[in-house]
Amino acid sequence: MRYRTLAAWCRRRLGGRMRKIPLDAGFSCPNRDGTLSFGGCVFCNQAGSGTGLLHKGFDPRAQWDRLAAKFVNDPDEPHPWAYLQSFSNTHGPVEKLAAVLAQVAALPGVRGLCLGTRPDCLDPEKLDLLTAAPLPVRLELGLQSANDRTLARINRGHDAACFARAVTGAAARGLDVCAHVIAGLPGETLEDFLATMDFLAALPVWGVKFHNLFVARGSLLERSWRAGEYQPMERAAYVAWMARAIPRLRADMVVERINADPAPGELLAPDWASDKSGVIRDIRQALKDLDTWQGRDRDAPDAMPQW
Ligand code: SF4
Repeated sequence: MRYRTLAAWCRRRLGGRMRKIPLDAGFSCPNRDGTLSFGGCVFCNQAGSGTGLLHKGFDPRAQWDRLAAKFVNDPDEPHPWAYLQSFSNTHGPVEKLAAVLAQVAALPGVRGLCLGTRPDCLDPEKLDLLTAAPLPVRLELGLQSANDRTLARINRGHDAACFARAVTGAAARGLDVCAHVIAGLPGETLEDFLATMDFLAALPVWGVKFHNLFVARGSLLERSWRAGEYQPMERAAYVAWMARAIPRLRADMVVERINADPAPGELLAPDWASDKSGVIRDIRQALKDLDTWQGRDRDAPDAMPQW
């Protein structure tokens, strides 16, 4: 493999695969509840990337029982982790976060917690609380782009410096951070995307999740797309960008995802975004054709590391 996958990291560090169980604990997002804005980031659908199970009456324990039952106690699934994925899971009072952490730690068979949030929702008190949690915690932190003009254009509501502060504070406490980035944001060039790689590589970031921008039903981007103001990236361009971006990362970073995975019914455009495995195959082939690998343009120029 020409990049360090999550599966490789799990094999070496955990001794087996990690299974993430998505849970909705009822958090909102400052970019949706009016604290910063009501519209949200332009690409965000109104479900905030969640399962929606909470609104169907399932509390986190009931969600876990429903979704994790077949993995807990399965010897082939030694690491079921809770994944607080919907919206911004450190937004709101610290007492709420403390209660949710206690609830997650009590889930039967849970081995760790991945928690998605925004960098502007992580003050020192919340970082201390996460560090003291009675189970391993990994943060999934949205950056999307290191270009502040892009961040303003997509209505993120924070700048790149805010992300850097959050990562530095988390890493100083021993918390791993997986950064989320998007290729093909409105107005962005390949150079902007590569500059985001350089920005991440200079920070104590543990891993990266890449997404190709797609038009989600109900997002602000849908309006721009329908008005002809936004055209999604071509598949070949995304593959070419990824083959340039991965070598710019540090070789020790974990590449947890290399393309987006739209939820059923969510994708409006481009059609190719539904071919997740085909796009992964194309990116791997492009890295091979260029005889390049993660870290080649940074700290592993001479030989591909054995991850
Ligand atoms: S921060 Fe996340 S949940 Fe909030 S609007 Fe942006 S994408 Fe949606």
